Amino acid sequence: MSVEIKTKVMKTGQIHVQTENIFPIIKKFLYSDHEIFLRELVSNAVDASQKLKFFAKNGDYKGEMGDLKVEIILNKDEKTLTIRDRGIGMTAEEIDKYINQIAFSGAEEFVEKYKGTEGAEQIIGHFGLGFYSAFMVAEKVQIQTLAHYDDAQAVQWESNGSPEYTITNIEKVDRGTDIVLYINDESVEFLEKNRITEILNKYCKFLPVPIVFGTKTEYIDSPEGEKDEDGKIKRVATEVENQINNPEPAWTKAPVDLKQEDYDAFYRELYPMTFEQPLFHIHLNVDYPFNLTGILYFPKIKENIEVQRNKINLYSNQVFITDSVAEIVPEFLTLLHGVIDSPDIPLNVSRSYLQSDGNVKKISSHITKKVSDKLAEMFKNDRADFEAKWDDLQIFVQYGTLTDDKFAEKAKSFSLVKTTDGTYHTIDELKEKVAPIQTDKDDKVVFLYTPDAEEQFSLVKKAKERGYEVLLLNSPLASHWISKMEQTFEKVTFTRVDSDSLDNLIKKSEEIPSKLSKDDEEKVKGIFEGVVNKEKFTVQLQSMSSDEAPIIVTQPEFIRRMMEQQKMGGGGFYGAFPEMYNLVVNANHDTISSILTKDEAGQKESAKYLADLALLSQGMLKGEALDSFIERSLNNIN
Ligand code: ADP
Repeated sequence: MSVEIKTKVMKTGQIHVQTENIFPIIKKFLYSDHEIFLRELVSNAVDASQKLKFFAKNGDYKGEMGDLKVEIILNKDEKTLTIRDRGIGMTAEEIDKYINQIAFSGAEEFVEKYKGTEGAEQIIGHFGLGFYSAFMVAEKVQIQTLAHYDDAQAVQWESNGSPEYTITNIEKVDRGTDIVLYINDESVEFLEKNRITEILNKYCKFLPVPIVFGTKTEYIDSPEGEKDEDGKIKRVATEVENQINNPEPAWTKAPVDLKQEDYDAFYRELYPMTFEQPLFHIHLNVDYPFNLTGILYFPKIKENIEVQRNKINLYSNQVFITDSVAEIVPEFLTLLHGVIDSPDIPLNVSRSYLQSDGNVKKISSHITKKVSDKLAEMFKNDRADFEAKWDDLQIFVQYGTLTDDKFAEKAKSFSLVKTTDGTYHTIDELKEKVAPIQTDKDDKVVFLYTPDAEEQFSLVKKAKERGYEVLLLNSPLASHWISKMEQTFEKVTFTRVDSDSLDNLIKKSEEIPSKLSKDDEEKVKGIFEGVVNKEKFTVQLQSMSSDEAPIIVTQPEFIRRMMEQQKMGGGGFYGAFPEMYNLVVNANHDTISSILTKDEAGQKESAKYLADLALLSQGMLKGEALDSFIERSLNNIN
């Protein structure tokens, strides 16, 4: 395509701006984000192409359509970057109206005119800075454009970044607009092919018309194998073009037209570096009272939730806006992956404003509802499948339950707990199941749990021998979550298996009498206090059943939970709490009464041995203490 510029200047003028000189402000405004100029200009080009399609459909344009791709052409030699479209173009009057009167938004007028007509909202709306963001990176900008009207005169608008501009008539064969940027010295990064590819991939990956990036000319070995005078393969100039985008990403299609493979394939398109497949997805598709499309994927959530955050990409009519959606969706939903597309989310506004925006609030609660509905539906329709996914889902559900009241209310019906036998129950189901034997003297149903069935093997075993059900609660949010459950469900309490003696885990009314006299109990207490670190262990005597161990190490539920929650929540108190345990001695165990019959050295030795055994069974005997215990045990054998 040839562009011959006539020298006669038709018109010069001043760009109408509210402020005396807006360009320094533009330059400063988005300083850290200069790259968005390309998003703005490509969006305009896409808009112009979509408008032409729209006019053609409505009968307002009857000419040829041609190939409606948008081209980005880099010419490093001339230091230019051109954004070319074959859209509606502009007349001199339109340039005057849409470009010179900066405050005027052509898109706004367009939507106003075609309001209610199907497809009109699809035109990319107002991005704020728009065309003028070009001056963040260019010292001179030309618009060469031929409007779509019959007998239109092509024109060139040119400005060097001051409010002055010129408009000239030019020859231009193809309908549409070339925006030519003469890249300024500070912005030479935008003359790099890789940088432009990177920006296009970021913002334009799913734009609705083909986006093609070409470096003006590149020299390659002659495909015909022609040789030059030196006999070497001749280098020939060639146009290199690459299509950047997928103009019809999955989320723009109707859910009925998509199969599971399509959703999986789109996930890989979004996250090529992620190998794990998501658990399931939700396809969002709303057009009233706001416009929202998108696909949200549920990833398998690992212990470290922070690394999985912020993978949702926000689009506006297929233009990428941001991957930080924290202000738009409730916190727990930032763990999901995928795409949200809504032209109704205001752009380029402050974050605090976003949160108070009515549409954003509606969109946010819509998404929350969709997510909880989906989980409830899966639970109802295929419980076995839901249970199979639960281990990977539980952190997400617990996080939602803890941070979002509406979600918490819904999640009551599908939140599961897993037992150490691998069965799953809702809280209500479990309550009913265990109530007959796990109700304490205050009429509370006590749920016993362990964070690690391997490590607390013997405690779990003993509890099960009594007919108790033991839950496996190993999520990092467990301790916050169980507190929430205790508030939510009436007469339910959670107790970790190591928080007290087996008899006391679920306190029943009947008291077990002690076999030792008060005097002897004091003596036993003294002996054990002599062999443990008193800063860390409080020695207590309890009259337990004879099936209990002679000694157990416990940590009261409330102390441990407080410590865990402070550690998680970073409340600053952590560390103020020293690690404290109870060393509970079973007054009714024969081994304990027999200690009293020994001489002082024998008492000490036995007490030390029993205390070490208790620690050992709970994986708490470590380092030097463990080493010396093994030494002593070996000596006893010999
Ligand atoms: P906005 O796109 O938000 O309206 P811009 O400053 O980016 O603001 O553009 C102003 C107007 O200029 C557009 O609304 C449109 O009417 C016109 N315009 C910009 N680029 C093009 C283009 N490539 N083809 C046709 N018209 C364009």
